[in-house]
Amino acid sequence: MPPSCPKAAPRLFWAILPALLAGCQMGEPSVPEVQRPSVKTDPCAEQLHDVCGPLLLYHSTHQRLPKTLEQLQALSPTEPLHLTCPQSDQPYIYAPHGLQLPGRSGRLVLYDGQPSHSGMRWGIIVGNAENGGPLTTRVVLLPEESVFTQDAQPAPQAGD
Ligand SMILES: [Zn+2]
Repeated sequence: MPPSCPKAAPRLFWAILPALLAGCQMGEPSVPEVQRPSVKTDPCAEQLHDVCGPLLLYHSTHQRLPKTLEQLQALSPTEPLHLTCPQSDQPYIYAPHGLQLPGRSGRLVLYDGQPSHSGMRWGIIVGNAENGGPLTTRVVLLPEESVFTQDAQPAPQAGD
């Protein structure tokens, strides 16, 4: 029996494909990939995208993020924000000061309460606006093991 079976090659390719697609993001273990939810089509990601607008609006008015999501909702009383994951039915977790994630810039401020998207969570990462620049937001898919079981640190609180 030869040490390397030819049949193993295609399986290895599929096993490392997610890592290839993810580019050179070192430190993130490759996710066991079956159907990776897409930021463009996943309803949960779309909902989080919808939250980004009011978040940016609030920040540009108050130079800080709202203390609660209710303050955000007050910005658009006629259009309710959807703050519950459509997949798990669990409310999103809001961390106004953000969590600093290992190996990522920015702060995670809003994320799925459960890793219900192929074992991962959607979340909103805001860019660091401490230098007075405009806030930036992006919706990202977060592998559970690299984010929530290690040491995601509360970001240092910026003075108001
Ligand atoms: Zn979700």
